[in-house]
Amino acid sequence: MYTSVQFNDLQSQWNEIKEDVLQAVSRVGESGWLILGDEVRRFEAALAEIMSASFVVGCGNGMDAIEISLMALNISPGSKVLTSPLSAFATTLAIIRAKGIPVFAGIDTNGLLDLAHCREICASQPDIKYMVPVHLYGHALDLQSLERLKTDYELQIVEDCAQAIGATSRGRPVGSAGSVAAMSFYPTKNLGAMGDAGALLTNDPTIAEAARQLRDYGQSEKYIHTRIGYNSRLDELQAAIMSYALLPRLKRALERRQAIASQYLAGIENESLILMPGPDSSQSVWHLFPVRIAADREDFRAHLARRGIQTAIHYPVAIPDQPVMSEVTHGCEADLHSLREFCSSVVSLPVHAYMTDTQVEIVINACNEWQQ
Ligand SMILES: *Cc1c(COP(=O)(O)O)cnc(C)c1O
Repeated sequence: MYTSVQFNDLQSQWNEIKEDVLQAVSRVGESGWLILGDEVRRFEAALAEIMSASFVVGCGNGMDAIEISLMALNISPGSKVLTSPLSAFATTLAIIRAKGIPVFAGIDTNGLLDLAHCREICASQPDIKYMVPVHLYGHALDLQSLERLKTDYELQIVEDCAQAIGATSRGRPVGSAGSVAAMSFYPTKNLGAMGDAGALLTNDPTIAEAARQLRDYGQSEKYIHTRIGYNSRLDELQAAIMSYALLPRLKRALERRQAIASQYLAGIENESLILMPGPDSSQSVWHLFPVRIAADREDFRAHLARRGIQTAIHYPVAIPDQPVMSEVTHGCEADLHSLREFCSSVVSLPVHAYMTDTQVEIVINACNEWQQ
């Protein structure tokens, strides 16, 4: 089948960034230094600036960034960790790998972690001391509410910002309410490397130092191992590619996503389709543009596919319903019925920096012309 609107377009990205990437690769090759060198430091400094964080620690990927963040906060085995039942599975997997016990709260009408419900759960389970909230789809959770939760219940928070680099809540960047923020640079993320990469951000020098050691075999100095660490370093190559080819284009890419989302929100009008604009407090960066289908989702997807429009589902299965969760100790306070209803009705429309206005029109028209 021909494709008129791809869900992601890494080919167009390559055409645009190719020269800068090749130069970055050449720089690293010529430097003769491939692991944890100047390029990682340069990227960490640039990201710290963009995100208004004091310290950035590059890691192998976003999932490791969450796990290392929890370990740097000295989580002890068996600690409950309040989190979202709707996210990439990596969020929960990182908690499990850190020997935490995930406790799932409910979601709101945008599919985001319901912070009011989190408050009720914290009040009734005072042994919850950790939380991994997710800024899903590129929306910023309400950072004021998050910060109040943190103070009222003395929580240690790792914000999962994998989908939300650049999003703000009443002007404040995501990642600034918790103790640590984790980011992913998986290729399709809003800032994507050309392979796996991630980072954690913090204003606390002790956490930053612990994370630096943890990502590199737990070494406090060369060949002195003081923690049970990981091998989760950010490559010089990925760091250089991001610094020279992708970071300089980030602002424009986010603006393009926002423009497309505004056109969708203004242009899509179909009673069978429920738009999700995100929280009022959020200046979203639209990593994804999910909508809900009141009727037959597969019929809607087939209708778009016939016009060459790719769609995807985020996410088809809620985390507590994942097969492996039956083997894992966890708590679920979320209402499974409404969660499942969400997962079976949500569809993501294409949104990426390389979409043209014509393609946006094609998607809007296809949505508006769909008849159940
Ligand atoms: C992508 C993603 C992760 C994991 O990042 P990786 O770099 O793939 O390990 C974690 N949380 C969320 C919300 C994500 O979207």
